Amino acid sequence: MRTVRTVQELRSALARARRQELTIGLVPTMGALHDGHLSLIERAREQCDVVVVSLFVNPAQFNERADLERYPRDERRDAALAAATGADVLFAPSVEEVYPSGFATSVEVLGLTERLEGAARGAEHFRGVTTVVTKLLCMALPDVAYFGQKDAQQVAVIRRLATDLDLPVRIEALPTVREPDGLAMSSRNALLSADERARALALPAALDAALALVHAGERSARALLDAAREAMRPFDVQPEYLALVDPGTLEPLTRLTGEALLALAARIGEVRLIDNAIVAPAAAHTGAAHDPAHTGAAHDPAHTGAAHDPAATRGLDGPRTTSQRLEGEAIATCSA
Ligand code: AMP
Repeated sequence: MRTVRTVQELRSALARARRQELTIGLVPTMGALHDGHLSLIERAREQCDVVVVSLFVNPAQFNERADLERYPRDERRDAALAAATGADVLFAPSVEEVYPSGFATSVEVLGLTERLEGAARGAEHFRGVTTVVTKLLCMALPDVAYFGQKDAQQVAVIRRLATDLDLPVRIEALPTVREPDGLAMSSRNALLSADERARALALPAALDAALALVHAGERSARALLDAAREAMRPFDVQPEYLALVDPGTLEPLTRLTGEALLALAARIGEVRLIDNAIVAPAAAHTGAAHDPAHTGAAHDPAHTGAAHDPAATRGLDGPRTTSQRLEGEAIATCSA
C-alpha cells in the first residue's frame, strides 16, 4: 500500500489504473479505524480493482472544538490496518492540502440536512461533510464510494448530493458493524471510560426495545419511541434526539406503515454517540442469520427465529438484511 498526501500524488498513483479502465473504489474515513471501517474496505476490495482509503479528520464538520481536539488519531496503526485489509492507496492529506489558503467554496444539501443530526449539530456539520466528500470524490474520481449505514442520514445526504450534482459515482451503503454486546462501533467509543462504555449500551437497548414492540405488532410511533426512551432510563442516559422518520425524506412518522428509520443520538459524559435501525412491520422482514450469542435475541420474548430477531433487524447479527433493503433505494446514508 502506498501512502500519498497531495492531490497530485493521488492522481498520479491512480493514473495508470484510470488509463486501463480499472474500477476504483474510495472509502472515506476520519481514521481511528475499527471493524466498521474495515468492512467498507473489504467490500471495496471485493468489488473494485483499486482501493483508495482516505484518512482525513475534517475540521469543517466538527461543530465542537473539543470534539475535534480529542478525536483519536493514529496514522501508523490506521495505515497497517488499511494495508492488511487490502487497500492499495492511503490518501492522508494535511488540512492545508484540502483547504488551501483562499478556499471559499462550500457544497450544501438543503432539507435533508436540517433534521436529526443537522438540527442537533447545526448546518455547518453537514456543510462540512458534503463539501469534503465532494472534494474527495473530485480528487479520487472513484467508480464507487463506500459509506456506513451507521451514519444513516449522512448516506441519505450523500446520495442526494451525488444525484443532484450528476456525480459519476455509485454510492454503496453497508450495514453497521457492532461490538458483541450490541454497541455500534465508532471511533469515539475509545474515548469512553469503563463506566461510560457500560452506559453506552443505552443506545442499542433503545433500538431493541422499539424493535421488540414492532415485532409484537405495535405501529404507533409514540409507543415505539416511549419504549425506546424507557429502555434508556436504567443506563441514566437521555436521548438528544430519538425519532422515527421516513428513511427517504427523514420526515417524522406517526405510524409505522412500511420501512422507517429509528434514529437516535445521546451524550455519554462528553462523548456523543449515534445509532439507528431500519424498522418495518413484521411482514416486511426478509430474515437474517441468527446467532443467539449476540444481544437482542436473548431478551426478545417473541423471539422465534431470525425473522423475528430484533437484533438481526437492527443489524446486530444480520446487518445484511438492513443493508440489502437500503442498497438501491432512493435514499442514501453517512458520518461524524
Ligand atoms: P468516520 O471515520 O467516522 O467518518 O467513518 C467513516 C465511514 O465508516 C463512514 O461511512 C461511516 O458511516 C462508516 N462507519 C463508521 N462506523 C461504522 C460501523 N460501526 N459500521 C459500519 N460503518 C461504519
